[in-house]
Amino acid sequence: MTTKTFECPKCRIDLKIGATECPCGWSVNKIAGRPSIASLRAEIVDVLRMGNVKDPDKHVEWFIDLLEPERKDEHPKQVQVVGNGRDDNGYRWVWPYALRVKGCLLKYLTLSNDDKKIVMAARADNIFWRGDDIKLFMDVVEETMIMREIGVTAYRKQCLGKMKNLKIGV
Ligand SMILES: [Zn+2]
Repeated sequence: MTTKTFECPKCRIDLKIGATECPCGWSVNKIAGRPSIASLRAEIVDVLRMGNVKDPDKHVEWFIDLLEPERKDEHPKQVQVVGNGRDDNGYRWVWPYALRVKGCLLKYLTLSNDDKKIVMAARADNIFWRGDDIKLFMDVVEETMIMREIGVTAYRKQCLGKMKNLKIGV
């Protein structure tokens, strides 16, 4: 069942999705444990240190900037959970953006120097790596370049054309 409301974690009345406070006094900003960019930075430093990166503190901002900025649908949110890590009301914070950053960081540290350079070069062209295998990422880069070259509308038509041809060929 899907619902278009968000249940107040404290008094359980229905609020609008994305609500950050409730007439009962509950407020997202009052809840301990809401993840912040500070806590994410600290986690990145830890991972960099484990990866034997020199001066991890100096690389945090660089790495954050290497990736796509936090999108609207990636903000911290509370989800109702069972099991560990929940607060008294049965909620836990989930931050999709932080999960993406940390996932990309762990993968990035395993890349060869050449592959790292590809990620950086693409970033310079505003094409963001999302932790894909580099071969797959190269396809993304190539397709993005084609799309920019011919324009989104023409690119979509071309893709639809390809799909039609595939169907005919089967
Ligand atoms: Zn409430």
